[in-house]
Amino acid sequence: MNFTPRTIDQRSAAPVTIDEGLCIADKGCRVCIDVCPMDLLAIDPATGKAFMKYDECWYCMPCAKDCPTGAVQVAIPYLLR
Ligand code: SF4
Ligand code: SF4
Repeated sequence: MNFTPRTIDQRSAAPVTIDEGLCIADKGCRVCIDVCPMDLLAIDPATGKAFMKYDECWYCMPCAKDCPTGAVQVAIPYLLR
């Protein structure tokens, strides 16, 4: 794919937020990272948990639906609901 998504500076302002208390990426889970068609999610090396690295979200939802622990929250913009 030929585009460079914008890196997110402020994690709490990202459209997709991940509850680090629920995320089991430190146990090897990579589901949300693998299902995102845009490759927006990554592992934070500091915490071992998943986070939204790039902000080009399509609000397609598999990251939230497939997360085994319900750690992923997608804030869908009002106009898309
Ligand atoms: S799918 Fe859920 S538990 Fe797995 S890495 Fe992503 S946020 Fe963490
Ligand atoms: S909603 Fe879709 S595009 Fe956005 S982070 Fe989740 S899987 Fe990726």
